Amino acid sequence: MKRTWKQAFRDLEADEALVSYLLLVTLPFPPVQAGESRRTPADKSVRATQPNTISGMSVPTWLKVLNSEVIGCTRCPRLVDYREQIAREKRRAYRDCEYWGKPVPGFGDPHARVLVLGLAPGAHGSNRTGRMFTGDSSGNFLYPVLHETGFALLPTATARDDGQALTGLYITAAARCAPPDNKPLPEELAQCAPFLERELEGLKDLRVVVALGRIGFEAYLNFLMRRKLIARKREYEFRHGAEYALADGRVLLASYHPSNQNTQTGKLTKEMFRKIFKRARELADESTGRILR
Ligand code: SF4
Repeated sequence: MKRTWKQAFRDLEADEALVSYLLLVTLPFPPVQAGESRRTPADKSVRATQPNTISGMSVPTWLKVLNSEVIGCTRCPRLVDYREQIAREKRRAYRDCEYWGKPVPGFGDPHARVLVLGLAPGAHGSNRTGRMFTGDSSGNFLYPVLHETGFALLPTATARDDGQALTGLYITAAARCAPPDNKPLPEELAQCAPFLERELEGLKDLRVVVALGRIGFEAYLNFLMRRKLIARKREYEFRHGAEYALADGRVLLASYHPSNQNTQTGKLTKEMFRKIFKRARELADESTGRILR
């Protein structure tokens, strides 16, 4: 049957609509505009574009419950006094800021393969902003490296609502309250350990633990001791770049802490730190079977 030009035009419109629909439902990302990159610098998964702050939609219930318990915790009287005193008195440079002044919950991707385990919030950093490694010099050293190695959406971390998001990585600390002189007491670390334990249980995809500093390193070994996965700690020497395959199937990577004391003296350089996170990514990717060698 011979088709009129009107009929042919309607068929063409219908075909175009079908193609557009198929493109829409099969593309993982919205169409890229001129000058935009389809991949975020942090890459590599759709989750990179989704929020994962404590108030983000992608936070699972167990983590929401845990975080609200962390934020309300008052188990260590010395630390409660200190964090609140700092929040009241403030540093001159931040006198117009409203300090967080509470325990700081973990931050990142609940499907993380890599855990960064630090020491404790900085008095005028996380204790001010309420997010791990945010708003201080340690964070200024850490986040650019996380961004370069594809774990962080942005190279900066300045506030809880700065748009930062982590992919494949979660940041936590051995103690959640800022301690005087950055030195939590052993009993304070012990009080805080159950929070870490619950994170380690809940983050089911973890394959690599990057311990930033000796206290974070010890905190993970203590966790393994409590689980009877290791009998003693003396085989595990803390050295920058040390790497230990553990009985829980994870790898523990040791790094110097990115504190001023280490970064300004050259004890920890950007290149040394970059290597740690490149290695962490390699180990995490190996465990997914994505790297073959
Ligand atoms: S350090 Fe941990 S256990 Fe102690 S008050 Fe802060 S959140 Fe609670």
